[in-house]
Amino acid sequence: VTAEQITVLDDGFVCLVDVMGTDADIARAARVSYGPGTRSVSEDRALIRYLMAHDHTSPFEMVELKFHIRAPLIVRNQIVRTRTANWNERSYRYSEMDDISYVPEPERIGGQSKDNKQGTGEALDEAVQQRASVILAEVEAYTHDAYDTLVELGVSRETARQATTVSRYTEWYFKIDLHNLFRFLKNRLDAHAQFETREYARALESFVSRRFPVAHESWVEYVRDAVMLSATEVAALRAVLDAPYIDSERIMIRGYAEDRGISGRQLREFVEKLS
Ligand SMILES: Cc1cc2nc3c(=O)[nH]c(=O)nc-3n(C[C@H](O)[C@H](O)[C@H](O)COP(=O)(O)OP(=O)(O)OC[C@H]3O[C@@H](n4cnc5c(N)ncnc54)[C@H](O)[C@@H]3O)c2cc1C
Repeated sequence: VTAEQITVLDDGFVCLVDVMGTDADIARAARVSYGPGTRSVSEDRALIRYLMAHDHTSPFEMVELKFHIRAPLIVRNQIVRTRTANWNERSYRYSEMDDISYVPEPERIGGQSKDNKQGTGEALDEAVQQRASVILAEVEAYTHDAYDTLVELGVSRETARQATTVSRYTEWYFKIDLHNLFRFLKNRLDAHAQFETREYARALESFVSRRFPVAHESWVEYVRDAVMLSATEVAALRAVLDAPYIDSERIMIRGYAEDRGISGRQLREFVEKLS
């Protein structure tokens, strides 16, 4: 049992409550498929990288992490879509809501993005940012007062909570296996994900990198920092690589790969992909 905590946004946190397994357990689970063999740490690493590179995902489901998260409802409403997580949230029918809401720093308030309909785009004038921040803070102050007044009047907590915004903080336990946590991280670390949710994903990722360094390193290599090309993009790339003038470049690309430590099976696979 562990209790490591990272502060997120102004009043949020991600706390690692418990972990089941280590990198070695991922390798051990995989060896059920591949049969017993030698088990040195470097061989575990090679095996885990192989599993990640070839989408052999089930060994990553054999280890789990349990978190206690406090986040504004806007973030909670996005994270809750991860159906593969087990979830237990504080009930605001039983207990009163905490007196904390998230108000973004003025410099974080941007304009509506022109090319991403869901996202924030260019920076706004400082005066507009200040005004927006004041409006958001005033709404929070008003709704917190309204909630407290309703509770004081004797209105039930389940009805009083209607007087709150999606900036209010909530908290829950969140347990998920590593395979599905990687899926979540891939989506929510993306530059197009909402900034606030990205901050939570970054905190979750830092626990993964500490507790499962080899699995994390493999995921960074083959998933997080890798790129998937569409069939049309492959065709366009193929046209470039097939151009007569590029033949010598192709040999150079092989050299560049070797310079970066790609060798053996990985080099063969890379050359196969290129052709
Ligand atoms: C940038 C971004 C924008 C988004 N915008 C919206 C939006 O506008 N509106 C909206 O509603 N959602 C939106 N989402 C949520 C998104 O559509 C997914 O619901 C969410 O990311 C969960 O992904 P998931 O289903 O892969 O994860 P999980 O729920 O963890 O599921 C993982 C995988 O398990 C399988 N699975 C899980 N449950 C089932 C099931 N019941 N049946 C079959 N297979 C299952 C599927 O293969 C699934 O991909 C957005 C997500 C992102 C990252």
